[in-house]
Amino acid sequence: GKVLVSGANGYIAVWIVKFLLEQGFSVRGTVRSEAKTTHLKELFKSYGDKLELVVVEDITKDGAFDQAVEGVDAILHTASPFHFNANDPSELIAPAVAGTGSILQSARKFGPNVKRIVVLSSCASIVESNRPLPVTFSEEDWNNYSINEVETKGDKSTAPDKYRASKTLAEKAAWRYYELHKSEVKWDLVCLNPPFVFGPFLHEVASPEALNTSAKDWYNSVLKGNITPQNLKAFQGSWVDVRDIAFAHVLALQKQEAGDNRIIVCADPFRWQDFIYEAHKIAPEVPNPEPSYDPATTDWPSKYDVSKEAKLLGIKYKTRAETAKDTIDDFKKRGWF
Ligand code: NDP
Repeated sequence: GKVLVSGANGYIAVWIVKFLLEQGFSVRGTVRSEAKTTHLKELFKSYGDKLELVVVEDITKDGAFDQAVEGVDAILHTASPFHFNANDPSELIAPAVAGTGSILQSARKFGPNVKRIVVLSSCASIVESNRPLPVTFSEEDWNNYSINEVETKGDKSTAPDKYRASKTLAEKAAWRYYELHKSEVKWDLVCLNPPFVFGPFLHEVASPEALNTSAKDWYNSVLKGNITPQNLKAFQGSWVDVRDIAFAHVLALQKQEAGDNRIIVCADPFRWQDFIYEAHKIAPEVPNPEPSYDPATTDWPSKYDVSKEAKLLGIKYKTRAETAKDTIDDFKKRGWF
């Protein structure tokens, strides 16, 4: 079959494209400009015309994907801004929501062969930062907190809330559109919800400063020791390896039972100290400000329930040690560490 991947040049998406090609799928990837096709063509040249790249300049336009969906059997929608530099929340919300709406609409109108659409959502659509701890979030939870924050505070809401609201509103828009048009289409919907995504990268990055948000955070916090005491001690999140969330997209196409589900795809909780601990073991030059830290004795006030993923997809997650090793090797190979 042929799979459309939007935002094919992104950190997670390039791994998705790689795994799809390896599994024998044909891929049509969309990028925002012709210049962004060069690296991908070079990377996957051994696959010849199994990879096709098309330019969709503005994903928010009605009909943006009308041509791109023609003849494809499935769609993976990954294009959406992930950064903490927005002033007006609509800088993130508009492309997230309208991009999702436009690809579903194009699929409904011009994608008669489409059987499944997978939207790369996020745990940002699930986690609410005002919940009493300890808490275990599941697919039943929706992050209405961040939506309320941007609605009431606008520009003054926090950077994470602006981003999280964009992902929550986009995922809600996807489910709403699907519910409205279910009876007219032959496809079903899957939303994948990963927490922080870390690990090596294949996409085009000119320098560490130009890395995507989550890989740059890891590089700065773990390898460079560039981390605030607050982030070192108090912050606790969850993470998944980029290759695991990318392969989850392939599984989400292959597993019939996955249809009509949002699925949390999460390896473990973490604090930055956990990755510093692993990285320091692998590369002693990594600064370790807390040598007595022992990951075995730590507790996790905020967790995700991944039982649905285990039942529907069955991913064997990479460990912190594996991800740290492969990421360090990658940075060393590039001369960045
Ligand atoms: P990247 O920044 O590497 O990828 C983002 C992709 O979206 C790129 O292809 C980018 O294109 C495209 N994009 C960004 N803004 C726009 C826009 N306004 N219009 C059209 N396309 C746009 O990051 P990731 O690979 O990490 O992100 C991919 C997806 O994964 C996003 O939906 C993100 O929300 C989600 N996600 C990521 C997590 C993480 O920790 N990395 C965690 C959970 C979810 P261009 O290169 O042209 O800007």
